[in-house]
Amino acid sequence: MKGQLFVISAPSGTGKSTLLREVRKRMTGLGYSVSHTTRKPRAGEQEGSDYYFVDKETFKRMADEGSFVEWASVYEDYYGTSFAALQGQLAAGLDVLLDLDIQGARAVKEHFSASVLIFLVPPSLEVLEARLRNRGTDEKEAIEARLKKAKDEIAAFSRYDHVVINDELEQAVTEVQAIILSERSRTERREPIIKELFGV
Ligand code: ADP
Ligand code: 5GP
Repeated sequence: MKGQLFVISAPSGTGKSTLLREVRKRMTGLGYSVSHTTRKPRAGEQEGSDYYFVDKETFKRMADEGSFVEWASVYEDYYGTSFAALQGQLAAGLDVLLDLDIQGARAVKEHFSASVLIFLVPPSLEVLEARLRNRGTDEKEAIEARLKKAKDEIAAFSRYDHVVINDELEQAVTEVQAIILSERSRTERREPIIKELFGV
């Protein structure tokens, strides 16, 4: 595999989708791992680009067949990363972004030890609550459940290689880009091109 995996996790409402959209717009050489999920599409989400939306039966069959690198139950729905979503892009030399919860990040690291884990956090729990309310996609109970879970999730920060605080979006996007760029200049990644250029 020539590309690198970048896993990004965040408590729901932190701004991960917003940030990833920006990073993907600004950087070349970056693929995205489209997960399978049993949850219903939100307004504006597209089949095959945001997720592959499947029913529970199809999801379970794929899990039994070993199609997933990892899968997890998140907020009563199933989410999974298929081998197919990664392999083609990695072989083509693309770095691949994965948007996964904490369980998924852990499983990917176990499978692909070279993967880079980035944890995005809000500047405070109060700001997180405000973002969830302003987004307007979740019921009151769902917001409460997400806030309750956020603190436990944040407690897992030390399992990640990098932690980015999403206060000002522009700054957070720049930091994630910097992490990706610095991984690209690692000696192991540069070795083939240096050998080709200089015959050493
Ligand atoms: P997630 O994907 O982490 O659940 P979203 O990307 O849906 O979160 O963002 C949640 C809400 O917060 C959205 O309304 C989004 O526009 C807003 N948001 C994201 N990042 C910031 C930021 N840095 N400052 C202010 N609002 C933000
Ligand atoms: P959402 O429903 O908001 O798109 O995602 C809910 C949570 O599921 C987020 O934390 C997201 O990172 C996570 N998630 C999305 N796809 C996958 C996946 O393939 N595997 C795992 N483990 N988590 C995922």
